[in-house]
Amino acid sequence: MTNVAFIGLGIMGAPMSVHLQRGGFAVTGYDLVPGATDRLVAAGGRAAGSLAEAVAEADVIALMVPDSPDVEAVLTGPAGVLALGRPGALIIDFSTIRPDVTMALAAQAHQAGFRILDAPVSGGQPGAEQATLSIMVGGTADDFEAARAIFELVGRTIVLVGPNGAGQTVKAANQLIVAANIEALAEALIFLEAYGVDLTAAVEVLGGGLAGSAVLNQKAAKMTARDFQPGFRIDLHHKDMGIVQAAARQAGLALPLGALVAQLVAAVKAQGDGQLDHSALFRGVQRLCGLAPTTD
Ligand code: NAD
Repeated sequence: MTNVAFIGLGIMGAPMSVHLQRGGFAVTGYDLVPGATDRLVAAGGRAAGSLAEAVAEADVIALMVPDSPDVEAVLTGPAGVLALGRPGALIIDFSTIRPDVTMALAAQAHQAGFRILDAPVSGGQPGAEQATLSIMVGGTADDFEAARAIFELVGRTIVLVGPNGAGQTVKAANQLIVAANIEALAEALIFLEAYGVDLTAAVEVLGGGLAGSAVLNQKAAKMTARDFQPGFRIDLHHKDMGIVQAAARQAGLALPLGALVAQLVAAVKAQGDGQLDHSALFRGVQRLCGLAPTTD
């Protein structure tokens, strides 16, 4: 059996760690929040009281923490994985962070004798729960093959997209598409409601045509039920639109729809909805239309 340390057991990390434990790996979880490891422990895994304890015996160190500074905090410094872990271990960073930070951390990890992959995911909480995530991987082909058994326990579409950093660049593109899609769906549903159309019928027929999408399948029902429990928090999508905008600027690109949707996400966050699911872009459209934003 391979020992896996899993760092960050929130909405995504908790179910992913459970899939790895049930799939035959010996998983030790560590999270800043006590109790976050409860699901893993109930599935037969172990909870570590410190990062040092979690990574001491680990062959694979998986991360699923919110943002670039969190990944830097876990990996670097005297109390980080690169100082505490076993050189030769394979680090798999499932978090969504800045591509430039990923590339800098990969260089540091290689220098310290570690192998590392960026492996951000898409598919949301349902994808994590059902082990059907899309995983966009940056790194070497050898490390990708070494991680394949892990990826296959949490994902369904698993693709090596290039060297370190490429996974994060593809994920940034993913977040641009998803945000624009959610905003369009929210506007379409408000439009349909204004005309008194049967929303169940409308969503069914839209789903069968070119407007059909994973966003429509996962988010239309949440919007019509005014259920904005996360899921994927607006705060995290705000972070991701910042990544898209900074990377686009660095490449000298104009992405006008991305810039507009980034502002709409920022507005929803500024109105106090940062902890809600990103389907709460619907509430932003309600406000723009002079409608009272609603929740269930
Ligand atoms: P979350 O906030 O639910 O979970 C993150 C966990 O990491 C928390 O439990 C937190 O306590 C822990 N953590 C933070 N810093 C830590 C540290 N230094 N050491 C140990 N634990 C630490 O977030 P989430 O929704 O699970 O998202 C995690 C990552 O996955 C983010 O980068 C997000 O953008 C990405 N993501 C989320 C979704 C989704 O639908 N929620 C989908 C795809 C990708």
